[in-house]
Amino acid sequence: MEGCIFCRIVAKEVQSKIAYEDEEVVAFHDINPQAPVHVLIVPRKHIPTLNDAVEEDQALLGKMMLVAQKLAKELGVADSGYRLVLNTNRGAGQSIFHIHFHLLGGRLFHWPPG
Ligand code: AMP
Ligand code: ZN
Repeated sequence: MEGCIFCRIVAKEVQSKIAYEDEEVVAFHDINPQAPVHVLIVPRKHIPTLNDAVEEDQALLGKMMLVAQKLAKELGVADSGYRLVLNTNRGAGQSIFHIHFHLLGGRLFHWPPG
């Protein structure tokens, strides 16, 4: 989608540090990491928020979680612990309106989150 920074990253018009990619999903390191491991997992398809996902996105959303699991293992946080975050709309802290999981690990996380 025009003007979407994550669509531009997926299209390689904007540089990023890619951690994983396949025909449906791309993962890249967050530009402003909030933990030693902070990777964003996005679909190539432009879906603005989780509220916009539809039935046909079911497999894609599941795949994003399995990519998170794979990256957590590769990046060495699968056993120590990691958090998957999906912010939806501004009240939850979403600032980029192209759906993404944050994969965070490598430090202690508190509950409830801030
Ligand atoms: P959210 O606030 O949940 O929408 O998360 C957006 C995330 O995208 C933030 O953690 C930003 O640091 C990150 N971000 C924004 N622009 C870029 C970029 N060009 N490359 C990598 N990460 C980015
Ligand atoms: Zn997009």
